[in-house]
Amino acid sequence: MTTRISAVPRPAPAVDLAVPFADCHITSDAQAAVLRVLQSGWVTTGREVAAFETEFAAAVGAEYAVAVSSCTQGIELALRSLGLPPGSLVLSSTMTFCGAVQAIMHAGHQPVLVDVDPATGLPTPATVRTAVQAFGRPAALTVVHWAGDVADVPALAEAAGVPLDHVVVDAAHALGTYAGDAPVGSGPGATCFSFYATKNLPLGEGGMITTDDAARADWLRKARLHGMTADAWRRYLPGGSWRYNVADAGLKANMTDIQAAMGRAQLTHFPSWQRRRAQIAAQYDEQLAGLPGVGLPHRPAPGQGTHAWHLYPIRLRLNGGIDRDEVIAALSERAIGTSVHFIPVHRLAYFSQAALIPSAGLTGADALFGQLLSLPMYPRLSGAQVDAVCAAITGIAHQGISGKGTE
Ligand SMILES: *Cc1c(COP(=O)(O)O)cnc(C)c1O
Repeated sequence: MTTRISAVPRPAPAVDLAVPFADCHITSDAQAAVLRVLQSGWVTTGREVAAFETEFAAAVGAEYAVAVSSCTQGIELALRSLGLPPGSLVLSSTMTFCGAVQAIMHAGHQPVLVDVDPATGLPTPATVRTAVQAFGRPAALTVVHWAGDVADVPALAEAAGVPLDHVVVDAAHALGTYAGDAPVGSGPGATCFSFYATKNLPLGEGGMITTDDAARADWLRKARLHGMTADAWRRYLPGGSWRYNVADAGLKANMTDIQAAMGRAQLTHFPSWQRRRAQIAAQYDEQLAGLPGVGLPHRPAPGQGTHAWHLYPIRLRLNGGIDRDEVIAALSERAIGTSVHFIPVHRLAYFSQAALIPSAGLTGADALFGQLLSLPMYPRLSGAQVDAVCAAITGIAHQGISGKGTE
């Protein structure tokens, strides 16, 4: 960060990387907005949250937006809002973050993990049908637009036999993704976004659920705060009443006005941040294309939509005896941070027991997992930093190819 909130000391970074993997940029106007809220005397859910919801809904073309404490809580609430019988089957891609599957379990349901096409990292109608044939028709389906790429939500829902309003879209990577001309978040069902520190609109923590269904938005708005019929802000408004009722079980998953004020300011920068991400992706593409053993990330075909470039996941197929951990170590020696998204959920001990997994395994995800490497991708990454990352990978790739074959 180049600027900081006065009086809040910035902790020293643990390692001083020349090219860190991630960057949580809180703009100076977002910092000023936090101070404004702190000085206003109202810091929890209030007018800033209401304004952020309106502005966010407009940004993604949704009718309603409900701010929550995280995307994980958003997915749980969106599933709960369907009122399904406990233990219902809910499909999820195995190539996702563990929290998205925990949300299914905390909503009281049984996750069924679905394989992905190793070429895209996304489930296909065929992998969905395999899961349905093994375990029966699910009551709901979560769809993750992995890395910011475009999943075909209608085709996956049809393969699952699930109506579109029973699809919960995990858009943690997909603020800025378009399916065709439609921004993710504008469709039917419920879409859940994350404002976690590394996401495309970073607030540190936070989430948003969008929907076109007024009754569902109303239910979600109550359920995020104990199921109370009127939140504190509305009770204390002039003419507000102290009375409230609780009609349904709720969570404590509301967003504070501090986060929302930051979100409103960050959102004004979002279009330019997305343009910068696309430029960085193009620079990586240009410099890494054709490199032996290195595959570029999948992206939507023309007309299919727009990638949000939350991640830039390359695939390593180095056949010269260098493996991924060696590449990660070699990059780290050059002070370049990387990560892997994701360890497939079925390979995590808890979910290997708790989730339903087709007996033939999830071989597409396993194959892809071995190759994945996420490169640094954030708006403040400079052209020179991208050059440095590409030069390092080029050196490693050539070494890897020549290493075994020629000696
Ligand atoms: C980050 C992430 C989440 C969880 O988001 P939180 O806001 O941290 O709860 C869910 N799904 C995916 C795919 C993610 O990357």
